[in-house]
Amino acid sequence: MTSPAYDANNIFAKILKGEIPSYRIYEDEHTVAFMDVMPQAPGHTLVLPKSPSRNLLDADPSVLPNLITTVQKVAVAIQEAFDADGVYIAQFNEPAAGQTVFHLHFHIIPRHEGIALKPHSGKMEDGTVLAENAKKIIEALR
Ligand code: AMP
Repeated sequence: MTSPAYDANNIFAKILKGEIPSYRIYEDEHTVAFMDVMPQAPGHTLVLPKSPSRNLLDADPSVLPNLITTVQKVAVAIQEAFDADGVYIAQFNEPAAGQTVFHLHFHIIPRHEGIALKPHSGKMEDGTVLAENAKKIIEALR
């Protein structure tokens, strides 16, 4: 199977264009990071390249160095902000692998010993909680 075409109207494309709000924690020339609205744990963040691709399979390789650099930067800040024992980083390609939004993104989730993750795309988190968690990560990024 070859990758289907990129849909420029996907929800993350709209967030990148500023048409839909997000709890943004980081932005540079090439990448953006914001809070996942249905977090699997407090602090669950998504990192995206600004340039369009459905997922990793159809991404231009030149996008990847900047992207993984931002993933690392945000993961380190999340580890500090949530005093995490570990950091889970995930990336899904196509529905069969669990992908639900078709603009390349990495999930970054702080983990604590003995605490299970909530389900993927489960319950919508309260906006004040997302804003508080975003603030913690932004402070750790400074
Ligand atoms: P994936 O299955 O890897 O495509 O994950 C998509 C993620 O996007 C899920 O974890 C959703 O909770 C999250 N999500 C969906 N809509 C939004 C949104 N508007 N803002 C932030 N996160 C979202």
